Formats: sequence, structure tokens, C-alpha cells
Amino acid sequence: MTEEKILFYKKLGLKLTPQRLAILEFLEGNTSHPSAEDIYRALKKNFPSISFATVYNTLELLVRKGFIKELNIESSRKRFDPLTHPHHHFFCKRCRKIVDVNQKIDIPIPEELKDYDVEEFQVVFYGLCPDCKS
Ligand SMILES: [Zn+2]
Ligand SMILES: [Zn+2]
Repeated sequence: MTEEKILFYKKLGLKLTPQRLAILEFLEGNTSHPSAEDIYRALKKNFPSISFATVYNTLELLVRKGFIKELNIESSRKRFDPLTHPHHHFFCKRCRKIVDVNQKIDIPIPEELKDYDVEEFQVVFYGLCPDCKS
């Protein structure tokens, strides 16, 4: 991680421990939408002393601070997304892969929501990815 990036996180009031840095580094540019378990398993190799609670609490903190987004696409476990701008997803029902869909999707605001102020929406496509399809 660059000096500049570290300064950026510090400015936003994030206390950076080596473990937090490792989590941020792991997530940067990561498009696999990992779960807390995935991140824990990956970091355990370089940080044998890291605990699952540290990983989980750091992820919760990063979500609260708006650095990452929490996805509730898979019912059994939360997945995390470093891409915080509005975008859509595809979820493979077999291998449980989540893929970003960045193409703009226009949907009409439902009649039932006409009195509401809709700020954003997220589309999730469900099905089989090319690997699972064949
Ligand atoms: Zn698949
Ligand atoms: Zn995403």
C-alpha cells in the first residue's frame, strides 16, 4: 500500500494496525466479494496470530466508515465489496461466485414508491456462471 493511501486512511480517522492494513490491502481492487472467512483464511498465512474476531470487527468498522460495502446476496454469509459506488451483481447459484455488473441499468420506479425518495437500487442476477453452465 502506498504512503499516500495510508495517509488517506489516517486522515479519515482510521487507526492503522498492521492487521488492519493487511485487510485493507487484501480488499483493494479485489473483485471476488470475499466473506470474512475468506479474508481470515487468506491472511492467516502471513499473520498466524490474526484472529477471526479481528478480521470480523475490522470489516464491520470499514463498513461503518463507508470504506467497503456489505453484501447480503448470499443468505448464509455476508460478503464484502471494496467497490462502494452503486453497481449491480450476478450470483452463481452453484459456485457462489459474485460478479460485478457495472453496466447502467434503467428500471422504472414502482408506482408503490411514488411518495418515496428513492436514492439508489441494486439489481442481483441469479443463475449459473459460464464455468458451472458447462
Ligand atoms: Zn459458478
Ligand atoms: Zn461488487
